[in-house]
Amino acid sequence: MIKRRKTRKIKVGSIYIGADAPISVQSMTKIPTSLQQPLIKQVSSLIKKGAEIIRIAILDKEDIKTIPILKKKFSIPLVADIHFDYRLAFYSIEAGIDKVRVNPGNIKRNNLKEILNMAKERKIPIRLGFNSGSIPLKNDLLGDLVSFAADIIHFCEDNNYFDLIISLKTPFVYATVEAYRNISKICNYPFHLGITEAGSGYIAVSKSVMGIGLLLNEGIGDTIRVSLTEKPEEEVEWTKSILQSLELRKFEPEIISCPTCGRCEVPLYNISKKFRNKIILFSKRYPSINNLKIALMGCSVNGPGEAKQADIGIAGGKKKFILFEKGLVIGTYNSENIEKEFFKRLEKYGKN
Ligand code: SF4
Repeated sequence: MIKRRKTRKIKVGSIYIGADAPISVQSMTKIPTSLQQPLIKQVSSLIKKGAEIIRIAILDKEDIKTIPILKKKFSIPLVADIHFDYRLAFYSIEAGIDKVRVNPGNIKRNNLKEILNMAKERKIPIRLGFNSGSIPLKNDLLGDLVSFAADIIHFCEDNNYFDLIISLKTPFVYATVEAYRNISKICNYPFHLGITEAGSGYIAVSKSVMGIGLLLNEGIGDTIRVSLTEKPEEEVEWTKSILQSLELRKFEPEIISCPTCGRCEVPLYNISKKFRNKIILFSKRYPSINNLKIALMGCSVNGPGEAKQADIGIAGGKKKFILFEKGLVIGTYNSENIEKEFFKRLEKYGKN
């Protein structure tokens, strides 16, 4: 079991970040905030996917107008992303935002102080989002990022502001991991994790999984955003996958599915896709099946043996399937009946 770093517990709208609060799933909308209808649609879709905190970009007063509309429609905590114009933080707080993200690399200290004062008065938490691309670089990226962050954190504390969430992002896995490790030694604020500007495709996902995974494995990290040049719903899916893979959260049943090989005589690729979608739908209706281990194996020779630890599973044979529970074969079925029988039994687990 991963032992999480001890942190403060910060309230963000209706949820908490840090300490014993579940590591939360974040994403950011990718539509101008002033375009209310498409934005509402995207927020709604992100919530449906499982986002627990949503950040919106605030560029001007037009964007501010959308905040109360979103607040009226959704209960999910909303974060205003502020760069350059510190006054937008005030307007966002006035409009009902739950948290403000500022980039101290592009906001002057005296302006940051004004944000801190208002946020303290209104009990609004602030994420100090440090990005390697927007801090003054002198010597080396890592050292400069950490010392700049440490200075700003101390500045907030000197101004009696402690409702902080911290992120130190770079586009590089090792620099990001080291930055979080270093800053974790000097403060106990919760951390928002991510590899910034990771890009798109496999490499971007690998960078995020590695960077975030290494830190989570050390107990570092309290809320996550996987940043991808992809649809925001994918960010939510990947974040949930990382958390579930490290057994830090459970969003769906554990599905063990073999890669298939020359022994496989059934179309396992299609079957596992179909079963997985149906299992996930089932888990919405019967959340208790999230605790099950389910196996979808290509052949009956190795199937039940390799997946002994599964609660329930199927394994392909010659135009037929076997159904097994906890390593024991229950029966043999053709391709039509296996689906019926499997889900009948799964439903029983759900109802128990
Ligand atoms: S379970 Fe059977 S089909 Fe799947 S990888 Fe193992 S041997 Fe191959």
